[in-house]
Amino acid sequence: MDLKYERKNVYKISDKDQLEKIYAFSEDYKKFLDSSKTERDASHTAKKLAEENGFTPFSFSEKLKKGDKRYFINRDKNIFLIRVGEKDIATDGIRIMVAHVDSPRLDLKPNPMYEESGICYLKTHYYGGIKKYQWTAIPLALHGVVMLKGGKKVDVCIGEDDSDPVFYITDLLPHLAGEQMKKSADKIIEGESLNAIIGGLPEDDEEDKESVKTAILKLLNGKYGLTEADLLCSELCLVPAGKARDVGLDRALISAYGHDDKVCAYPEMRAIFDYDSPHTVIAIFADKEEVGSDGTTGMQSKVINDVIDTIAYSFGANPIEVRYNSKCISADVTAGYDPSYSSVFDKRNSTYVSCGAAVQKYTGARGKSSTNDAPAEYIGWIRDIFDDYGAIWQTGELGAIDAGGGGTVAKHVANLGIDTIDVGVPVLSMHAPYEIISKADVYSMYLCCLAFCK
Ligand code: MN
Ligand code: MN
Repeated sequence: MDLKYERKNVYKISDKDQLEKIYAFSEDYKKFLDSSKTERDASHTAKKLAEENGFTPFSFSEKLKKGDKRYFINRDKNIFLIRVGEKDIATDGIRIMVAHVDSPRLDLKPNPMYEESGICYLKTHYYGGIKKYQWTAIPLALHGVVMLKGGKKVDVCIGEDDSDPVFYITDLLPHLAGEQMKKSADKIIEGESLNAIIGGLPEDDEEDKESVKTAILKLLNGKYGLTEADLLCSELCLVPAGKARDVGLDRALISAYGHDDKVCAYPEMRAIFDYDSPHTVIAIFADKEEVGSDGTTGMQSKVINDVIDTIAYSFGANPIEVRYNSKCISADVTAGYDPSYSSVFDKRNSTYVSCGAAVQKYTGARGKSSTNDAPAEYIGWIRDIFDDYGAIWQTGELGAIDAGGGGTVAKHVANLGIDTIDVGVPVLSMHAPYEIISKADVYSMYLCCLAFCK
């Protein structure tokens, strides 16, 4: 019996065979990341993979049977993967895993395009919690959809292929930044300065005062058939361009855009694909987490209840009973301890990179405000199933008391009367254009999801 608790480094206790599994899983994860930068991209990737794994479209009017595998894609931005198990749904409930697939980024404003000083720009409105200065002077890619007049939807993705051009937001040269550098960090780059360059080649037209913009609109019209008015009916986002990359000579870590929260979405998706669970399992890729989980595709929407009700009615079960017997993992990232910024952490109650999935009893801020705060009984159950499965996990808080804080979707699921706990992956540089995670942790997260479905 171990009298004292000690956190374990997954790499330290892994044999060669286990290391190979960790690194192989990460290769698959990186591929998923590269095709899943926005919630739309991630939902599409998940749909494609679900179809490859034998999942078929879900309908609210259908009667599900044991063994059914379904996906419900909600407005192209949120997906539910459903796998009906053998067990009695009324008494066994549903095992629910929720992660979000939206990440902080720069959305284009509704009327984004303008020309000034011979350059054509796109105005942006940031989405989620960002340090605005981090988004200048890096290559950006444009992802999203535009609705043409008459209802045709056009998919846009520019800047990801090596031969694609990218977009770019300028910063001030140090030579002239004396005043700028005296400002507080939240003012160094103002929201209205986050304007991305989209072009600089004027048309040969003396009369046209915006001939660069005209030329760009012609290019867009040629490629997508769109006009400037169509941009008013679009959802276009600028995200960091490029692929996920290994970090370190030993390749122990991965740098990528949007680990938060695809690093949890991917393991939960893989678990529902890979394991034929006796329980009924739902894996949810949620949208809008970074801005409060509102709207039709966020976790405050009643869509989750509608899905649970549909499953319950399929088996003549009372949906209230199903919910009360259900269990949930709210899978979201947390802040890994960063020794370069030790003052905002409590060393004893931090989670550490490479030490396994982070189980968090509560999130929130200022005296546990706005948190789920999972009951001890549920954490006890989680501990046993993770330990029995050999999944390495740790626990901690997001940061030191009153240093700040953050929330997850856990409370929205818990508010439905479903036992819920936060389990996720520690991230360094969270919400930066490129975040860092450990390959050991994304694999541990996968094992935790499998344990939860067992
Ligand atoms: Mn998150
Ligand atoms: Mn986040």
